[in-house]
Amino acid sequence: MTQNFEIAVFDGDGIGPEIMGPTVDLLRALAERRSDYSLSFINVPAGASHYAQTGESLPEASLDVARKSDAILLSAMGLPSVRYEDGTEISPQIELRKKLQLYAGVRPVRIAKGQRTPLKLQDEVDFVLVRESTEGLFYSQGAGEVTHTEARETLRITRDTSEKLFKFSFELAKQRKASGRGPGRVTCVDKANVFRAFAFFRSIFDEEAAKHPELTADHAYVDATALWMVEKPQTFDVMVTENMFGDILSDLGAGLMGGLGLAPSADIGDDHAVFQPCHGSAPDIAGQGIANPFAMVLSAAMMLEWLGINHNIQSMIDDGNALRLAVEAVIEDGSKTTRDLGGKSDTRGACAAVLEQLSCASLSEQKPVPA
Ligand code: ATP
Repeated sequence: MTQNFEIAVFDGDGIGPEIMGPTVDLLRALAERRSDYSLSFINVPAGASHYAQTGESLPEASLDVARKSDAILLSAMGLPSVRYEDGTEISPQIELRKKLQLYAGVRPVRIAKGQRTPLKLQDEVDFVLVRESTEGLFYSQGAGEVTHTEARETLRITRDTSEKLFKFSFELAKQRKASGRGPGRVTCVDKANVFRAFAFFRSIFDEEAAKHPELTADHAYVDATALWMVEKPQTFDVMVTENMFGDILSDLGAGLMGGLGLAPSADIGDDHAVFQPCHGSAPDIAGQGIANPFAMVLSAAMMLEWLGINHNIQSMIDDGNALRLAVEAVIEDGSKTTRDLGGKSDTRGACAAVLEQLSCASLSEQKPVPA
C-alpha cells in the first residue's frame, strides 16, 4: 500500500523560490522510485513579498494548509526592505513556531570529509543542537518594557515545554545511537551556576535523564560550550538548550560548517514540523540563479527522515539519508558546488549533481540479475 504525504510548500522571498524548486524536484525523483510512499506538494503564499502585495505576511488560508499538511517545507523568508509599521522584519517562520507550538529547534552540525571549515580537524563532526523555540528569552519578544531609563525583557521557562523538549532530545539521542551516528549522549547547556531559571531547567533535564539509563547525560555551561564547540566539536552528540543560547550557538555551529549555505534546520512540535534552511533570503544574489541550494536540500532530507521515523516507513528514512550523503559526496568532489563553496555550478547545476549521485548510489545498490 502506498502512503501519501501532503507537504505544504512556502517558497519564501529572495533566493527562496530558486532553492525550493530544485529541492522539490529531488524529492519527487526520490519518491517516484518507491512504491510504499508518495508525496504531494501544495504551494502556499507567505513572506515579505506577499506582505508588500497584500498587507498579509502569513494568510490564515496558508496557515490552515500548513496545519492540515503532514510536513511543512519553508524556504528563506524576509526582506530587509519590507517591514511591518513598527520597523520589525517580516518573519512568518517565527509566527509558525509559536502558532504550531514547535518547541524543538533541531540544528544539525555536520562537517563531512572535504567540507570547508575554519577548524583544523582530523575527524568528522556530527552533532545536533536542540534549541527550545517557543519560550526562554524570546518569551517577551515584542512586549519588552522600555522607558527612558531602563529596559526589561522576561525569560520564561515552563515545566511542560521543558519536559517535552528533554523527552524529544533523549529520543533523538536514542535514534542516533541506533543508527550508528552517535554514542547516545545528551548534554544540557545552561547557566545554572548564575540563574535560578536555569537550575530549574537543569533539574527537569535530570528527571528525564533518570528515565534513560542506557544513555549518557551531562551538563555544560553555555560559555564553556561555545569554547568546546571550537576546540573539541567531535565530543558532542545531542546538546539541548534554551531559546536564546540556542540561537547563538546554532550560528556558531553554522560557522564551523563553513557558513550558512550548508546549515539545515527543523522546528518540531507534537503535531507539526517545519523544515527550513538557516540562512536568510540573500537579496544581494537573488534572481541570479547562483544561490547554494544545499541547506534547503539537507532540510528536505531531515523532513524525509522525520516522516519515515514517525510513520515507520524505512524507505523514507533511507531516502533522507541517501539525500544527505549525496549532498556530502558533491561537496567532497568540489567541482559541482556553487560559488560560495568554491565551485562553478549554478543552483540547478548543484542539484543536478546531487541527482546524479543518487542515481549512481541506487545503481550500485541493485542486486546483480542471476544468470
Ligand atoms: P536573515 O536576517 O534573514 O537571517 P541574514 O542577515 O543572516 O538574513 P542572509 O540572507 O542569510 O543574511 O545572507 C547573508 C550572506 O550570506 C549574504 O551575503 C548572502 O548572499 C549569503 N548567503 C545566504 N544564503 C546563501 C545561499 N544559500 N547561497 C549563497 N549565499 C548565501
